[in-house]
Amino acid sequence: MVNQPLFAAPKGTFDHVPPRAETILAVRDAMAEQVRRAGFGYIETPSFEETALFVRGVGESTDVVTKEMYSFTTKGGDDVTLRPEGTAPVLRAALENNLHRGALPVKLWYSGSYYRYERPQKGRYRHFSQVGAEVLGTEDPASDAELIVLAVDAYRALGMTGVRVVLNSLGSEESRPAYREALREYLRGLDLDEQTAARVEANPLRVLDDKRPEIQAALADAPVVADFLSPADRTHHDTVCELLAEAGVPFEQDPRLVRGLDYYTRTLFEFVHDGLGSQSAVGGGGRYDGLSELLGGPRLPGVGWALGVERTALALEAEGVPLPGQNGLDVYAVPLGGEASRHLFGVATELRRAGVRTDMAVGGRGLKGAMKAADRSGARFALVVGERDIAEDEVQVKDLRSGEQEAVSFSDVVPHVTRRLGH
Ligand code: AMP
Repeated sequence: MVNQPLFAAPKGTFDHVPPRAETILAVRDAMAEQVRRAGFGYIETPSFEETALFVRGVGESTDVVTKEMYSFTTKGGDDVTLRPEGTAPVLRAALENNLHRGALPVKLWYSGSYYRYERPQKGRYRHFSQVGAEVLGTEDPASDAELIVLAVDAYRALGMTGVRVVLNSLGSEESRPAYREALREYLRGLDLDEQTAARVEANPLRVLDDKRPEIQAALADAPVVADFLSPADRTHHDTVCELLAEAGVPFEQDPRLVRGLDYYTRTLFEFVHDGLGSQSAVGGGGRYDGLSELLGGPRLPGVGWALGVERTALALEAEGVPLPGQNGLDVYAVPLGGEASRHLFGVATELRRAGVRTDMAVGGRGLKGAMKAADRSGARFALVVGERDIAEDEVQVKDLRSGEQEAVSFSDVVPHVTRRLGH
């Protein structure tokens, strides 16, 4: 009887295993590379926080807070939640560590796991990873534009071509009250179910985010925030648009774009990929000038984004571009016998120390099985050593692409291989 595994990954979660896991890592690296180049400092916060941080920070009436949080009471009686997003925790950490008392702005980036109790589907999981970046302590629209350009450049560096930037301004607290009232007035005129009608009163902007087709259709003539922007908000938005255009980053304006978290003000954006079906956002973010005060902190305007790592990998697969991180090995060593194994172990160590990616067959595999493993490994060269080779102080270097083989002395093999690899 075949043994059944005792456990399976929890619903809506999965393992990243080789070789695809390398792509996940390469996606993270490409995102990190861009923000590091722009002076962002790395920050790490715990995977769980006090539940109240998210209720206050993300917003009580949002789907994330009402339906999607993994919340529990600890043995000690603390109410904690596995983080569903990164901005509120990073802002909490910045305030707690007094980063905002130093030179401003504070530019931070992070990378990690996030948890949302969502209905699982392609591209939507209960455990996923994001790379995020936040700029705290400035209202300068240059920071909004900088973040958008960095994300687009990360996607481009990965070879992705099909990502679109969708942009909106939600206005600041200067513009929002009049807009909120106009929207509420409009929504009150619609025939809405009880729950949605309650939302209209609590937080009418949330209704714009309702994905049901009948609601979206009813919203066709709803007032848009663009018509309510104060002169300062309008100038802010125009400057972001100008900077993006100058940086060669195309974007689309969508006056109906809202996002599932309440803290956004002014600039709001999403990175959308059309090869992904319904879960088309590979990343998104915006400005959140009031969030610090919501958390009980001082006024500390900020802007940031979070990029979905798995969805970006899915988008790369959908485009069919060569996947990053799949470079494989340079050398695969095949010893035939115990003595050969000892010799090649030393060669493999030296090659690795010289920066050559090297693997070696272990467990006394025969020539045929080991050569099959060498082919499968994607290595450029196989190094084969048998007893006769040891006697003649030789290593057989086989080019696995051309099939050509030549004998090289043990003392020459490392420089020979590194030279042929162009290292
Ligand atoms: P959000 O914090 O909702 O703005 O999410 C930012 C990005 O994280 C999204 O654009 C997605 O790429 C990714 N993301 C959000 N939720 C999920 C999820 N449940 N599963 C996978 N990726 C997600």
